[in-house]
Amino acid sequence: MADPITVEQVQALVREHHFDTIAVRRHLHAHPELSFQEHLTGRYIADRLRAMGLAVRTGIAGTGVIGVLQGRGAGRTVCLRADIDALPIQEKNALPHASRNPGVMHACGHDAHTAMVLAAGRVLHELRGKWNGTVLLLFQPGEEKIPGGASLVLKEGALSDPAPDAILGQHVTPELEVGKVGFHAGPFMASSDELYLTVKGKGGHAAQPEKLIDPIQIAARLLIVLKDECKAWAGSRPLVLGFGRVLADGATNVVPDEVQIAGTLRTFDEELRAEAHEWLVRKADALCRSHGGSCAVEVRKGYPVLVNDEPLTERMRAAAAEFLGADQVVEMPQRMGSEDFAFYSQVMPASFHRLGTGNPQKGPAPGLHTPAFDLPDESLAIGTGVLVWGALKEMRGA
Ligand SMILES: [Zn+2]
Ligand SMILES: [Zn+2]
Repeated sequence: MADPITVEQVQALVREHHFDTIAVRRHLHAHPELSFQEHLTGRYIADRLRAMGLAVRTGIAGTGVIGVLQGRGAGRTVCLRADIDALPIQEKNALPHASRNPGVMHACGHDAHTAMVLAAGRVLHELRGKWNGTVLLLFQPGEEKIPGGASLVLKEGALSDPAPDAILGQHVTPELEVGKVGFHAGPFMASSDELYLTVKGKGGHAAQPEKLIDPIQIAARLLIVLKDECKAWAGSRPLVLGFGRVLADGATNVVPDEVQIAGTLRTFDEELRAEAHEWLVRKADALCRSHGGSCAVEVRKGYPVLVNDEPLTERMRAAAAEFLGADQVVEMPQRMGSEDFAFYSQVMPASFHRLGTGNPQKGPAPGLHTPAFDLPDESLAIGTGVLVWGALKEMRGA
């Protein structure tokens, strides 16, 4: 085997391509596309990969792309995953690279994720005579929309030949200072399911309550009972049951026949998640029946729990500390947010970390999914370097 690759070597290559990485991210930022409609984005990525001389697979889960990198000889397979979709948000930034597509914006940093995986691929390709194994660069569509591009990538078997020994992903966060990366082994991000409840009664003239089974009264009781009792039911197991939409479309003197309620259920435990679905259906039905009405509950399953493989995540944490210095690596708390990378984590060793994009000198940075979101260019070099160094470490099997 040739000389081992050093941190300094990787840093130098990342720096060499830094301005190009910035330009790629800005191009993607200016041309955002919504989930599962990333046609031009996919073509742009495929063109960049082909220009590097990589084998390219297109049409992954619709608009996704996989670039295949071969090292010197046979070895482990590591997948670097980026999500490529944008959000239905009108950008408010007055920047030269602001979105040119009205009502669509890269407000979740997926432009940066894509630019960093492209850059990491480029560096690893340049070093290919010095490592063994295969790197898959996965550019996945539709992270922001159920059923999640990740579930489709797996369903169509796009990660089965070769199957990754490890998959790595990262997500920008303004809550961490630029320069820092955050890890959490084990369950990291929540499962998230959409809830649709229809409380049925018997509507009519509000002046004749004796003739009615008032679904509004029942729904009001139901909301309070569910919120109160789910906490007690779940005990110390973290669970969020939240309702953001209640629709009773009557009038001052008209009681409607039904009330529609929509909400979300989040957990860090697949067993608790399944039990909670049953509990909710049972509880809602029993309460509404006891008041003479009924309740139909629809649970639309979203993303599962994102479980970071513990040994892999500890190796990634160590890789980041080697690359950036131990003081730049922090422990992240669990998040009730969800992320479709979770699907990979259910079927293969997976590790997902957070990349700091905040700048405390500039004050609180606009959050993800807001029209003023932006990120500092410097974070791109840090995220690229951590991906490269982590992948190299995995391919050494160390
Ligand atoms: Zn998002
Ligand atoms: Zn995101």
